[in-house]
Amino acid sequence: MSRIQVVGAGECGLPLALRLQANGIPVRLVTDRDAAAVLAGAVTSTQVKFAPTLAIESHAGLGFWHGIAPRIDGIRFNLVVDRVVLSGWAGRFSAPAQSVDQRTVFARWLTEFAAADGDLEIAELSVPQLDRRTSGYDLTVVTRASRELAAHFPIDPKWTMPTDPLRRLSVLYLDEVEPADDGFGTYTALPGLGEIISYPGLTGPPGQERRCEILLFEGLPGGALDIFTDTGPTDRLLLARDLLRRYLPAAVADRYRNAELTDGGATLVGAVLPAMREPVAELPSGALVLGGGDVVCRMDPGGAQGANSAAFCADRYSAAILDSPARFDRAWMSAAAQPWLSAVAHPAARWTMAVLDPPPPVQELMLAAQNDTGLADAFAETFTRPADMADFAAAR
Ligand SMILES: Cc1cc2nc3c(=O)[nH]c(=O)nc-3n(C[C@H](O)[C@H](O)[C@H](O)COP(=O)(O)OP(=O)(O)OC[C@H]3O[C@@H](n4cnc5c(N)ncnc54)[C@H](O)[C@@H]3O)c2cc1C
Repeated sequence: MSRIQVVGAGECGLPLALRLQANGIPVRLVTDRDAAAVLAGAVTSTQVKFAPTLAIESHAGLGFWHGIAPRIDGIRFNLVVDRVVLSGWAGRFSAPAQSVDQRTVFARWLTEFAAADGDLEIAELSVPQLDRRTSGYDLTVVTRASRELAAHFPIDPKWTMPTDPLRRLSVLYLDEVEPADDGFGTYTALPGLGEIISYPGLTGPPGQERRCEILLFEGLPGGALDIFTDTGPTDRLLLARDLLRRYLPAAVADRYRNAELTDGGATLVGAVLPAMREPVAELPSGALVLGGGDVVCRMDPGGAQGANSAAFCADRYSAAILDSPARFDRAWMSAAAQPWLSAVAHPAARWTMAVLDPPPPVQELMLAAQNDTGLADAFAETFTRPADMADFAAAR
């Protein structure tokens, strides 16, 4: 029987390890922190997951929050200048999305893995350490890579990627925010400044989850939304409240007037440099490892695609491993990655760039969606299935 090693216990590594475990495949999961450390740490994402992703998780028996997390029924997109909505559309998803704090999700999934006698190792492996131990396994899947390890995954030359992050990010998980009337998430584009994105979510330790509001500032570097660096959580809340008052229409900003942080780890500040890599890395000894999730395809969070893509990756990789009694050589690894890359990751990366910097045809679609509910719904649905974007645009 194959022995599998999975490095990284996040959106890709955990469901992959759990599915292999559930199917009786010996799997070692190596990650840098246990469930208690995950829960004691800071938020790591805003992780909206769309219906197809939620279905995958449910099917695998991992959708523990599907009945309790608040629904995100659609997207309300507004183009705002001087606190006035210049244009906008509101589209309903064909089925609701959800966002559950990754701390909650990873802690629960880690606990499930350990409770089923999972082989869990808490370690941060250097490249030489990883290289030495790959021979003890038939396959190693890397879902978290240090800069040193990531460098072994060749850049995909077919992609032209930005050399600097497109946005500076600030995330706040908030209590005491008035819910939006329509149950939609809000996506406010501020020309020349960036975006402010907000929707309901679920946070808290497993068993004590509660509703919250998740707020993401996507600031153009150096612009008026890029002011959170070198600040602590309390200052971030004050800055956020001030930005909401200064840039959002009064009725929207008013929803946040009593906002408080959900906990001491409720904020995150940083930036994501998008990257597209090939899925197979050769370590110094010549050993091959398969990459998954952000290690291979890393996108700016503004398109809300990375966690969804990572979940698909885990699903496809587990199916490929379970289907395959064969040797896990380079050809097998490339073939295993291809369905995920071509059907999910690559379309999601293209789509994310189109949303952050809409080309004229997408701008025209958004304008037309103002007065066409069917079009607005169809546009919202492309968040759910970015691979359909090209067909959708061509059909209009
Ligand atoms: C601000 C922000 C907002 C986002 N919003 C969304 C969204 O709305 N929707 C969406 O789909 N995506 C979103 N994303 C992207 C999404 O969170 C990632 O794409 C997704 O988590 C990637 O999954 P992964 O398994 O590749 O990596 P991760 O989920 O990051 O998991 C990697 C795991 O490896 C562990 N680890 C870390 N270092 C080591 C080490 N040295 N050795 C071993 N293990 C290690 C970590 O603890 C972690 O558990 C957002 C990202 C950010 C930053």
